[in-house]
Order: sequence, then C-alpha cells, then structure tokens
Amino acid sequence: MKIVFAAIGVFAAAVANADSLDNIGNVRLKGPLGARLDRMVHAHVAGTDPDYITAPFMEKTETKGWWQTEFWGKWMHSAVPYAQYEGKGEAGLLESIERGIGRMLASQEENGYIGNYPDALRCGEGWDVWGMKYTMMGLLHYHDLKKRMASSSAERALGACRRLCDYVIAEIGPNGKRGRELWQTGNWSGYASSSILEPVMWLYNRTGEKKYLDFATYIVDGMTKPEKGPRLLDLAEKGVSVADRNEPGYDTGAGWAYVCKYGRSKAYEMMSCYQGLIEYYEVTGRKDLFDAAVKTAEDIVKEEINLAGGCACSEAWFHGAKKQHLPYIRLQETCVTTTWMRFCEKLLAVTGDPKWADELERTFYNAYLGAMKADGSEFAGYTPLSGYRWHGQHHCYMHTDCCTANGPRGFLCFLRELCRNDGKTATFNFYASALVKGFDMYSLYPRENMARIVSHTEGPLELRLRIPSWSGSTVVKVNGTAQSGVKAGSYFSVKREWKLGDIVEIWFDMPVVAHRLDHAIAFTRGPVLLARDSRFADGDMTEPFRAGIKDGQRMDCFAPVHVPSDDFWMAFTATLPIGSHHANPEGANYSEVKFCDYASAGNMWRPDNFYRTWFPEEFNQFE
Ligand SMILES: [Zn+2]
Repeated sequence: MKIVFAAIGVFAAAVANADSLDNIGNVRLKGPLGARLDRMVHAHVAGTDPDYITAPFMEKTETKGWWQTEFWGKWMHSAVPYAQYEGKGEAGLLESIERGIGRMLASQEENGYIGNYPDALRCGEGWDVWGMKYTMMGLLHYHDLKKRMASSSAERALGACRRLCDYVIAEIGPNGKRGRELWQTGNWSGYASSSILEPVMWLYNRTGEKKYLDFATYIVDGMTKPEKGPRLLDLAEKGVSVADRNEPGYDTGAGWAYVCKYGRSKAYEMMSCYQGLIEYYEVTGRKDLFDAAVKTAEDIVKEEINLAGGCACSEAWFHGAKKQHLPYIRLQETCVTTTWMRFCEKLLAVTGDPKWADELERTFYNAYLGAMKADGSEFAGYTPLSGYRWHGQHHCYMHTDCCTANGPRGFLCFLRELCRNDGKTATFNFYASALVKGFDMYSLYPRENMARIVSHTEGPLELRLRIPSWSGSTVVKVNGTAQSGVKAGSYFSVKREWKLGDIVEIWFDMPVVAHRLDHAIAFTRGPVLLARDSRFADGDMTEPFRAGIKDGQRMDCFAPVHVPSDDFWMAFTATLPIGSHHANPEGANYSEVKFCDYASAGNMWRPDNFYRTWFPEEFNQFE
C-alpha cells in the first residue's frame, strides 16, 4: 500500500496498486465459461502474430494519423495475464510475448520515441499519443511479468517505458518543445491523449519518481481546467449527463473531422480518462476527482446502460437506456463494453460496493459474451440488441480492429473479480464453475439459479458472498442449514472455522421479469437478457404483444427447456399474448414461443440467423 503526503493531509490508498497479474493464477475457470475462455486464449490471444502487430513500429510509415500502434499494447494487456493463467499458460504465448518485446525495444529511437509517426506529425493530431499510451501499458505489463520471474528484463522494459514517457513530457509536457499542451493533441476534446494518465500512474507506482507524478498532475490539470478541454471534473460535478457534455453550439451536423476533434460524448475515451483519474486519486487522495468518476459511472448506469449491460450508439453516449427499444445503429461497440467492464472493476475494487459487480456481471453475460464469436477467435465491432451479429472491421489497413484487439481484456475483469482470497477473507463476486484459492465452486449459474461452494480451507476465514440486487429472496445454506440476514444488493458474510468439505449453497431468486419501455417489451432472468432467435423458427418476431404486461412483472409462464443444439447456452419456452389479429378466434390464442440467452442469440454470425430482444406492444385508438 502506497502512502503519500498530499495537500489535504496524509492519505492512504484505498487499495494496493495491483500489478497486471493481480489475482491471475488464483482462479481456474471450468464449465462452459472455462471452455469459452480457453478457446479465446487459444484462437485469439495466442493466435496473434507478434511480428504482424509490431511491424508498424519497425516500418514507421504512418501518414494518415491512424492507430496502428494501439494493437501491440492492447494485446499485451491480455497476453501477459493469460500467459500466467493456470500457472503455465497457453503454449507459445510466452515466446510470442518475448518476440514482440524484442522488436518493440529494437524500434525505440534515441530520443525515447516508440511509434510509427514521422517526426512532423508526432504528438499532434491523430492517434500518436494514444498509441504511446498502449505501448506504455504493454511495456509495464512485460515489466510486471518479468519482475515476478525475478528476471533482469523487467528493468529493461521499465527503462524503455521511462524513456518513452520522458519523450512525451519533453514534447507536450509543461513548456514542451511542440508548443502545445497534451490535452490539445489527438481527438475528442483531448480525451484520447489525456487517457495516457493511466499508464503514467502505473509508471509512477513502479518507479516512485516524482517527475511522473508531476506529469500526471499536469495531465489532470489539462483534463479538468481548460474551457475547451475534456472538463472531466466540473461537468460531472454539475451533474451534466455524459451525453450532454459537448460545448454549447456543438454542431451535430458537422463532418466527422469536426466531431472527432471537438466531441465530448465518445464513450471509450471518456471512461479511459476516468480510469486514470481513479489511479491518480488512489495516490494523491484527490477525492473530488474520484467523486466525479463515481458520479459519472452512476450517470452511465442510469442514462446509458441497456438490459444487455451494453451502451453507446456510434461509440457515443446518447441517453441510450431510454432508447434501447429503438433501432439505433452501431450499438455496443466492443471497445465500450470492455472499457465499461474495466471501469466497473476499478470502482468495485476501490469502493467495495457490490453494485459495480452487478453491473460488471450483467455486461459480461450479455453484451460481452454476445460480442465474442463462439470459437473465441474474434469480437464483433458492434452488437445490436436486435438484428444479427457480424465481424468487426479492418482498421488502418490491418487485419484487426480496435474492438477485436480490446475484446480479450474484458474477460480478465470477470476472471480477476470472481473470487479474491487474501487468507483472511474470501469474497465471491461471481458464480461460475471454478477452482479458486481455498474453495471449489460447482455451478451452472446463470442457466441454473444455484451455486455450490466446497471448502478445501481449514481454519478461520470470512467468506463473503455477493447477493445480486435483482435476487429478492436468496437462500444461503451452510452444510444444509439456512442462514438468516441474507440481503439483496449486499455481501453476506459467513465467519467460521472451515473444515475440508464444508459446503455453502446459494439459491438465487431468478424469475423471468418483464420490462416495458414506451410500447415495447423485453424479458430478463437474473443477469441475463432473453432473446428470440430465428433458429427456433417459431413465428413472426415483429408481431406485437397485446397490452397488459406490466413493467417489473414476474413472468411465471417461462420454463427452461432443453437447448436445441450445443450452440445455445440456455433456452426457455413461454406462452405469451402475442398476435396482431386478436379479433379472430385463432389469433386470440396465446402463442408459444422460445427464448435463449442474449449471448447465444445470433451466434452463427450469419445474416439469416437473426434475433430480437425488444418486442412491440400494441397501441389502441386513444393513444
Ligand atoms: Zn472498437
């Protein structure tokens, strides 16, 4: 734990500054989720060619101000932890990491620069600083890995990261050579470049060098003070919703270049900035910055997050929660999904409030797993709430894009927070079959509403179980005895002398619940959004529901059924009031239709495998 003397007095960080391998190796995921993770690590992370994603750094041919230099750092963000997952990791992954780092270090210039921009375009418009941010992250991940192995390569990577950061300071730090401030470079009112704060704080935490904390303070000033800058503090303090933070007079009809330069509603970049601000708060105790981050995240939950735990339209905030039943385009960019999961994870770690685990879980089981191809090899760019799933794009002349590069980072948030056991307290946030430190968990959750945790711990320990806010009457049993005081939206604590084979069971209250929004209906079950899928071939998905279903109504007519194929995780049948011709006797009969979990819906990734989550509800003549 780092203790720093700040202007407001002595401040102890709320949590230890974890390295990039934090809690990896204490969890081994089993069951269907474990299989999905293994497939993704094999087909995507280990399948990435390190020569290909480091080639831009060697060739340095950028002319368009694009972002070829983000791919290596993002890859390292997941490759390093997954190389350590299960203690030994995926075969070949460590070799790929070594191959990549060798090429990256070889590409570093005398002045410290690592990137692919020509000198005249560096630290200016475009995504150069953004790329350096991800390169810093990659170098620091490598440092953490090698430090654990007590290898001297750790210092080499740290040295390279220092020199890269020194380069940024010299160019666009205080009184920098380029004659412009860091926040004035890059896109989105300075969001993109300012988000370098996160790895600058990581660098400070690893070196303790004051100049990096000073640079962080300079970045924070740029994020919060200039009128035309990111304004991540005052707009949050004033309660301005994330979708409404553009300048007065912001021209929504202007061209893309204008929107990119001046917009403040870009979800991924804004959240990346708050991630850095929380890191800065952990060291300095700047509570106002932390409060702004929490307030913003709470606003995102209220205004933007949909029933799939996803958000953003064309990558921007748009008050999407209230519009989720409408056919908006380019929904739920995977970059936004993974960054929201990282934001929730950070808030969970710092606040200990289980509501952030609720949010992370909802996003993971729906928007996140729905964006991942079944074989784990790639991630969708956008994932509609109704429609079909499709490949991401090819960005910057490369056979990858921001989203497929970001995808594997999201799973880590779930994996790291599933269970944390420090020897005194074991906190379970998520319930999936897994071997964790001190316990085995057997569970088909969230397909089934139950999880069983078996102890292989002996001695005293506090077990904390997250009780989801949606689970109204949860039953917790310890060796068969029901416990009292279990409350939704909190942690339930079991303190005892544990013996080998002690069993804790959790029975969640997981009915199907209806949601109404204007004249549209959707259904959730626990954390999972339900969808109709064309593979069920059970009628017209556009037919309206008849009026009468209430928002929040428990739908006891839903029953689980066997899945029609292994491509589905969950399937349910329900007889529901659907029909547009209910004056006719045959139309007045309720229709029996099937649903699956949102993540399984459309997972053939073909236009003829379509799905729907929000269904129209009829109007009458007086509306
Ligand atoms: Zn993306």
